[in-house]
Amino acid sequence: MEEVRVRFAPSPTGFLHVGGARTAIFNWLYARSKKGKFLLRIEDTDAQRSKSELSEQIIRSLDWLEIRPDEPVVYQSDRISRYKEIVEQLVSLKKAYYCFKTIGELDLERKEAQANKTSIKHDRASMNMTDDEIKEFISSGKEYTIRFHVPDGVTEFDDLVHGKTTFSNSGIDDFVILRSDGTPVYQIAVVVDDHDMNITHVIRGDDHLSNTPKQILLYKAMNWELPLFAHLPMILDEDKRKLSKRRNPVAVEEYRDKGYLHEALFNFLTLLGFAPNNNTELISRDELVETFTFARVNKKSAVFDMKKLNWINSEYIKMKDEADIASLVKEGLNKIMPETDAESIPLDYVIKSVHLMKERVCIINDFIELGKYFFIEPETYEEKGLAKYSNDESKKLLAEYLDSFNEVFSDNNIMNPEELEKHLRSYTDLKGVKAASVIHPLRLALTGGTVSPGIFEVMEVLGKDKIRKRIKRFIQ
Ligand code: GLU
Repeated sequence: MEEVRVRFAPSPTGFLHVGGARTAIFNWLYARSKKGKFLLRIEDTDAQRSKSELSEQIIRSLDWLEIRPDEPVVYQSDRISRYKEIVEQLVSLKKAYYCFKTIGELDLERKEAQANKTSIKHDRASMNMTDDEIKEFISSGKEYTIRFHVPDGVTEFDDLVHGKTTFSNSGIDDFVILRSDGTPVYQIAVVVDDHDMNITHVIRGDDHLSNTPKQILLYKAMNWELPLFAHLPMILDEDKRKLSKRRNPVAVEEYRDKGYLHEALFNFLTLLGFAPNNNTELISRDELVETFTFARVNKKSAVFDMKKLNWINSEYIKMKDEADIASLVKEGLNKIMPETDAESIPLDYVIKSVHLMKERVCIINDFIELGKYFFIEPETYEEKGLAKYSNDESKKLLAEYLDSFNEVFSDNNIMNPEELEKHLRSYTDLKGVKAASVIHPLRLALTGGTVSPGIFEVMEVLGKDKIRKRIKRFIQ
């Protein structure tokens, strides 16, 4: 059997979008599931809009998702002469022709076609001109484009997702393949590259469905073997509108920076179109590679459900090694404190906080937002808590608790949650008050808030010095 070769072909005119990443993932999964090759081609022929920083950013985002090409990246800007060569061949095969129409003439044709609700009928005049006549036109400075001669008939293909798909060629205008400034267009570049790169399966978004008949016609004109096509469903937002950066974060790196795990985003993006067996929603990369098939790819558009992504991410956080999570938390700490301070926090300490918080968070940044007190002494206290516990009685109780704490947990004594609880309860028994009347102000003093994991576990992580310092500060 022929080796499967697929490609992801982004245009570097923007950041890698989650929609693009989904396309890359499906290509990658299909390649891996067939033990084939996944290739990356940067479609940077639009010199004005393409930026090399964006190509790098796209490659970086893919790398973060652990999607790496199996062969060197192909850049279309390196291959312009090859596209021109094929355009020339198409002209000599009489499958394409020079179009000397002025913009004004073309405008008129377009308006006429619009009025008659038909596609533009080009007169293909240059096909009846001799080579010398054409040369004369060109040397006299007449501007031209080269158009593909769309034959009559229909163009049909078996899409791996949509099934049999038919386009009537009469609806396809003789499209330009070489612009008047001498640059080749997308349609020709993509076909030449897919042919030269021996691509067997073109897997891309639904938005390219209408390009496919044009591309198939080019393959046929060159007598090249056709790849198979698979068009993936559109991704809509929760209001069933096209995903838009004005409404949602769309760049892959934004998700990384917010603290989503690449494994979770990968898992989530596959569900935008792929329906795993038993409708499992948590599915590892390896299982996906094993089970991926176009038979389970939906035709209908998929909804980008943030709540689901958050849930998947929280599940991956629970599953991931705590030390790995802690390293990501440490990276995030750089954003809220001087880098040197963040670096001086021992990884072990961060791991302990991760262990306590991991059931309560959904993204990595939550470890820092909800568990900020592990790393930074609270500067302010929650209003609601202050109203209840910032009174003389609570403070007195807390001050005496601290004295007793200092006696029992002197520097050499082990402080663990069991001992801490025992001590606090015997202290409140002695005072004849409920344990809660110390626990609540204590939580406020240590964390600045009224919600946290078990206070004795938090105390164990914080350690004696921080406990002493924070209680004192609160009382003052
Ligand atoms: N460069 C095109 C895009 O970014 C993709 C072309 C293709 O996959 O055929 O939409």
